[in-house]
Amino acid sequence: MSEKPLTPADYRTNVHNNWCPGCGDFGIVAAIQKSLLEMQVRPENALLVSGIGCSGKTPHYIGTYGMHTIHGRSLPIATGAKIANHELTVIDVSGDGDGLAIGAGHFVNFGRKNSDILYMIYNNGVYALTKGQASPTMDKGMKTKSMEEPSIKEPINPASMAIQCGYTFVARAYSYDINHLSSLIKQGVQHRGSAFIEIMQACPTYNDVKTKEYFTPILYDLQKEGYDAVVKNPSDANEVREKKLAAITKSWETGAKYPIGVFLKVDFQTYEDYLKEKMPMMKEKPLVKHDISGIKITHLMEELTF
Ligand code: SF4
Repeated sequence: MSEKPLTPADYRTNVHNNWCPGCGDFGIVAAIQKSLLEMQVRPENALLVSGIGCSGKTPHYIGTYGMHTIHGRSLPIATGAKIANHELTVIDVSGDGDGLAIGAGHFVNFGRKNSDILYMIYNNGVYALTKGQASPTMDKGMKTKSMEEPSIKEPINPASMAIQCGYTFVARAYSYDINHLSSLIKQGVQHRGSAFIEIMQACPTYNDVKTKEYFTPILYDLQKEGYDAVVKNPSDANEVREKKLAAITKSWETGAKYPIGVFLKVDFQTYEDYLKEKMPMMKEKPLVKHDISGIKITHLMEELTF
């Protein structure tokens, strides 16, 4: 008997939402729900993982499995879940403070692993949960209403950094454009390998510079302007390098024209493909579905006990 088609209600929860009115995070949650519904990913086959910050509350509001984990360390936890059950759709979400300050080491090394997970950073330029301090993505010289002095540091460009760190799908989106964002989420989930989406997320409470009025006139869709992000022959090192250089250049376009859309897509062997080659039992079925009741681990416990 075929399963009943899923409806929007299947991705909702009854957890009270305490984000501020007008927060861009609402649009992101709507886009995640929309994309899962359109792909008909069953809630029990999806896992949302988050770190600490306003973004960290996302799994509370989406009716899939969810883990609200620790500061900057959500990616290793997501990777472990994916190894345990590689059939799960795993989406990891962080804020710019969570993912690019304390979590920067994981951000870098997760990309080049090419694990089949979608990682999204909600980029609002501030540490919003702790009341608006400058985060690693805030522009040099920018000052929000909660800062005494303008920021004195150069900002990180998350999309550019992701391209250099080896993510094989890299895109940028805008939190108030739900249709475009949900299309990118679908592409990121369907991509085989480490996918990354930087979401320009409005924080009306603590960032009164990068507002809706700031972004609306300057955003443009790369794909509508004919930008081709796809590497046709992944085994051609020259083509891969040229596409990456073009993608990095595009990701640094700022000012009067600000690009959203896909910067890069290249298909390489995934981390899970590699593990399946090494572990035949993983090829047969996900590790969590194996019967381990007959495996004796007493000797291991004795060896590890002091
Ligand atoms: Fe959203 Fe900013 Fe409020 Fe956090 S502080 S919920 S990011 S508007």
